[in-house]
Formats: sequence, structure tokens, C-alpha cells
Amino acid sequence: HNAAKPPPTPSPLRFSKFFQSNMRILVTGGAGFIGSHLVDKLMENEKNEVIVADNYFTGSKDNLKKWIGHPRFELIRHDVTEPLLIEVDQIYHLACPASPIFYKYNPVKTIKTNVIGTLNMLGLAKRVGARILLTSTSEVYGDPLVHPQVESYWGNVNPIDSAQCSIPIPVFFMVFWVRSCYDEGKRVAETLMFDYHRQHGIEIRIARIFNTYGPRMNIDDGRVVSNFIAQAVRGEPLTVQAPGTQTRSFCYVSDMVDGLIRLMEGENTGPINIGNPGEFTMLELAETVKELINPSVEINMVENTPDDPRQRKPDITKAKELLGWEPKIKLRDGLPLMEDDFRLRLGVGVAKKS
Ligand code: NAD
Ligand code: UDP
Ligand code: UDP
Repeated sequence: HNAAKPPPTPSPLRFSKFFQSNMRILVTGGAGFIGSHLVDKLMENEKNEVIVADNYFTGSKDNLKKWIGHPRFELIRHDVTEPLLIEVDQIYHLACPASPIFYKYNPVKTIKTNVIGTLNMLGLAKRVGARILLTSTSEVYGDPLVHPQVESYWGNVNPIDSAQCSIPIPVFFMVFWVRSCYDEGKRVAETLMFDYHRQHGIEIRIARIFNTYGPRMNIDDGRVVSNFIAQAVRGEPLTVQAPGTQTRSFCYVSDMVDGLIRLMEGENTGPINIGNPGEFTMLELAETVKELINPSVEINMVENTPDDPRQRKPDITKAKELLGWEPKIKLRDGLPLMEDDFRLRLGVGVAKKS
């Protein structure tokens, strides 16, 4: 349906960009998993200059090594909780640890990253007139009472978690409970985005990302796909957390990047869910990894953490209608694409498949 639309009339501001040869794009968190794939895609366009700002908390220069030294690429060690004074046309704001092990490690820092970090990037967008996209998360729906999750659902998030404690909690124990720093942090980040939009006319885009997988995922971050692939490559049993019938939906990273770029380039602020609606039980996922990566590994049922959501699946009607986007890569095709990268990083040679 996009083809039938007349081309948009450029606003005076946008019109000046018509004469600009290059689009200068800031990617915060660009040394991370999704960010580095986004950078790869943006760098394919010779009109793009890409600047990455990252503090390397969970990301790595290794993810960007092919671009270091490239004339259209720049990498800055920078923490987004500090002000950043540069000139850019677009900001993809991804900086934030995404995996529970890392975002629970220092919850106060996670909140600062989401709140002060997003405030700073909005201040930057305001000063230079840039369009800004925030990578929010399905976690804003909390433990959802609506399934599948639509963007109009306000969510079910506990702002304080269950912990009531008068003394500081050792980091080790935090891992079991405290996730509100991430969920509520992203909710405030979304609020800030809309307040800057309404109050200052900033051009905003909000993506609500669902579970994403692919090469360069952190190996030891405890996520189910990276755990299973690493276990299969090492020849260890796959640990399915009981009961194994809980479901998730997994989006391959190239589809995710395509969705983010379409959202940035389109006319809708969002929030828009970006994820793959294909729903799998964890047992099905384990069986698929076993079949495709290492048929000789066992599948073990292990204990689960409390309050593990039973189902999560995006409703992507809005992304289909407004962005003309839907995921292309099936789970069976995406999982094998992670094998070489994991073998390389784990130092494990090619397995003989029986
Ligand atoms: P990641 O941890 O691989 O990448 C995050 C990057 O941000 C890392 O490079 C890290 O070093 C950087 N970073 C963290 N705090 C920073 C700070 N204060 N200043 C500067 N840089 C900082 O995670 P990812 O999976 O690539 O996630 C990217 C974004 O997508 C995040 O905003 C995350 O919340 C969102 N998201 C991801 C998923 C998923 O399934 N991977 C799901 C929902 C939302
Ligand atoms: N900011 C930034 N880069 C800029 C402009 C602003 O990092 O180019 C930060 C600034 O330090 C401030 C935040 O963004 O903390 C919000 O800026 P804004 O101008 O909206 O608010 P104010 O500075 O008036 O509080
Ligand atoms: N899970 C699992 N084995 C693992 C790690 C996770 O069975 O080694 C399960 C976990 O119980 C949950 C699902 O996989 O039901 C997804 O967990 P993950 O932490 O990857 O993502 P999230 O719960 O945030 O969707």
C-alpha cells in the first residue's frame, strides 16, 4: 500500500537535509548485540556516517572491529548518563544492558542509564533537531494479563518488586528478584520521549522489542537461546527450566534491525511492537537446538526461577500495517546461523554431527 502514497512534502527543516550528502547517525549501545548489527546495516549505505557511543558494560569493541578505522565510522567510549555534545541527524538510543544478569547487577545504574541516559539523548536531539528512536521492551507489559500483547495494553508491572528490606542486599541475592529497575526504567524512558515530543516537538520513535537472538549475543548472560546454543556447542546437556511448556517468541536479529530502520524512517512515533509472533515452548526450542546443532546432547529439566511468565508473544498488527514489516527468518533457519560465532568465541571446533 506504500507505493500508492504520494511522496511526503519535505518540511523546511527536512528540506535542508536534501542538500546534505551524508546522514550522520548516532547509535548509543552500538557495541552491543543488536546495536552492532544495526551499525553493520547502516554502514552498508554509503550516505550514512555512523557514530557509536558505548561504555562497554555489556558490549565489546570486537563486535565493531570491521568498522574501526573506516572513514564513515567513529567509536566513542561514553556513558550516556553523562551529557554528550555532538552534531547528528538521527539517534538510535539502545544503550542499556538487556539481560537480567547484567541489569540486576547494579539496579541503580540501570535506572540512571534509562532515565538520565534517555534525558541526555533527548536533550541532544532537542539541541540539534535530530530524530530519536528508543529501544523499549516487551518488559513494559510486565507480567501481562493480555495475550498476545498489543501496544494499547498498559501493562502489569510491580514498581518495587517483592523485596521489603531495610539493609542493603548482597548482589548475589538480587539476581533472584529485582527486575523493576529495568521495566520501570524503560517505562519512564517512554514517558520522557513522549513529553519531549509534546513539549518540545522532538521527532520520536519507540520500538517495543521482544526476545531477539542471533550471533554476538552475550554467551554467559543466562538467556535461553544463548544458553542452549553454548551448551550444544560444548556438548553439555540443555537445561530446560521446568515445566518447559512456557512459551516465548524469538526474532532473528536481522529482522529486528530491519524493523528498527523502518520505524526510524517512517512517519509513526509508535510505540510499535517489534518481534516474531511464532510461539515455541522451551522444550520445543531445546529439541530444535539439539536436532540442528548437536543431536548427541541430552535435554535436562532443571528448577525454574519464581514468577517466570508462562507466555509471551507480540501482536505485530501495527508493525505490519504501519511499517509494512514482518519477520522473515524462521527459528529453524536462524538458530544455525549462531553456531559458527559461538564456536569461535568458545574456542570449540566443528562438531561431528551424528
Ligand atoms: P546489549 O547488552 O548487548 O547492548 C547494550 C549496549 O549498551 C552494550 O554495548 C552496553 O555496553 C551499552 N551500555 C549499557 N549501559 C550504557 C551506558 N550507561 N552508557 C553507554 N552505553 C551503555 O543488549 P542488546 O540485546 O543489544 O539490547 C539493545 C537494546 O535493546 C537495549 O536498550 C535493550 O533494552 C533493548 N531490548 C533488547 C532485547 C533483546 O532481546 N535483546 C529485548 C528487548 C529490548
Ligand atoms: N544534553 C546533552 N547534549 C546536548 C544537549 C543536552 O547531553 O547536546 C543533556 C543536558 O546536559 C541535560 C539533558 O540533556 O542534562 C536535557 O537537556 P535539556 O536541554 O532538555 O534540558 P536542560 O538542560 O534545560 O535541563
Ligand atoms: N530458560 C530455560 N533454560 C535456560 C534459560 C532460560 O528453559 O537455560 C527459560 C526460562 O525459564 C524462560 C525462557 O527460557 O521461561 C526465557 O528466558 P530468558 O531469560 O531467555 O528470557 P525472558 O524470560 O526474559 O523472556
